[in-house]
Amino acid sequence: MTIAPTKNEAAKLAEDACRMMAIHGIAPTPHNYTVWYNYAAGTMPALKRSIDAIMATQTPFAEAVNAELYKHYFGTAQDQVDVLETGSRLQTVIDQVRHFLDDHVEDMGTFGTHLTDFSSAIGKQQPMDKVRALISDLVQETQGMAQRNFTLESRLGKIADEVTELRGTLEVVTREALTDALTGLPNRKFFDTRLNDAARDSLHDKEPMSLVLCDIDFFKRFNDSFGHLIGDQVLKLVARTLSDSVKGRDTPARYGGEEFAVILPRTTLAQSAIVADQIRNAMMKRKFVGKDTREDYGGITLSFGTAQYRAHESLEDLIARADAALYHAKREGRNRVSTELNAAGLAARAS
Ligand code: GH3
Ligand code: MG
Ligand code: MG
Repeated sequence: MTIAPTKNEAAKLAEDACRMMAIHGIAPTPHNYTVWYNYAAGTMPALKRSIDAIMATQTPFAEAVNAELYKHYFGTAQDQVDVLETGSRLQTVIDQVRHFLDDHVEDMGTFGTHLTDFSSAIGKQQPMDKVRALISDLVQETQGMAQRNFTLESRLGKIADEVTELRGTLEVVTREALTDALTGLPNRKFFDTRLNDAARDSLHDKEPMSLVLCDIDFFKRFNDSFGHLIGDQVLKLVARTLSDSVKGRDTPARYGGEEFAVILPRTTLAQSAIVADQIRNAMMKRKFVGKDTREDYGGITLSFGTAQYRAHESLEDLIARADAALYHAKREGRNRVSTELNAAGLAARAS
């Protein structure tokens, strides 16, 4: 549990955050302030690591970098708010429907009682004018009922329209919350859920499942030479290459800043290395040329690490082995695929 800072501590953190934003030439917008206040407070180790890494590589805190930091660490909170708001609107509508229906059921009950009364009255010997009066009452009641039914129908129609609209909103919000805005790939949150599902299916179906992690080679150098916006285009190109290279049941995702992942159900370690190598080759064949300027930005290469899920292990362990394999690929010279066996020094048995 985090302990809320005192007023003085908060003031000091605010001062630190503003000072750091000024040093790095960052506009003190509410989003940037959120990022840097939390950096100053050290409340989020992952955020701190990301910012430290950016500083270490002396990448400028361009607008795109700031936006990405906010989106990555705080963006989902807003998405969640949207989901909650939509949920509570839906709850209100459901309450309204229940209310209308309760009223209507009561109305129908009363009408039913009147019909029974009428039928028993008409069954008796009655003078003609009494029967006429009964019929006239019944006509009035029936007309009233038809009118109320009509009103209810149109109210229910409006409610149905609102529910349909809310369902659409909820779908959009949910999709956005699980999609990386830059590349359109599933984001880390979606990846976590999908990996969980894939591990569960693998246990249940007794089928192998593998994970591929992928990192762009020398991406910092690329950003430094051509700027962050061109760097973002590279991320999109890598995302497209990944999507184009995998089958329907596989899930590619943006795992972090310039790291991607692919979840491969029904795939052994050896097969995962083949898939990774296909992606690597597909990337090598792509030319990265400026859309308008036709400037040739040279080739982009990727390094890969792969690991196969072991029954009942934690997903952190699986990810850690894929990560170790990825760093093995980097150490061995990049633009290559390493499996967890390579990383464990068991290359001879990797085939
Ligand atoms: P290596 O081959 O060892 O992976 O080298 P590298 O330069 O790719 O790795 P490093 O970790 O040194 O740098 C990663 C860089 O990725 C730092 C940052 O500039 C860049 N980066 C991370 N996220 C984004 C992003 O969303 N957009 C852009 N343009 N660059 C990003
Ligand atoms: Mg990296
Ligand atoms: Mg890299």
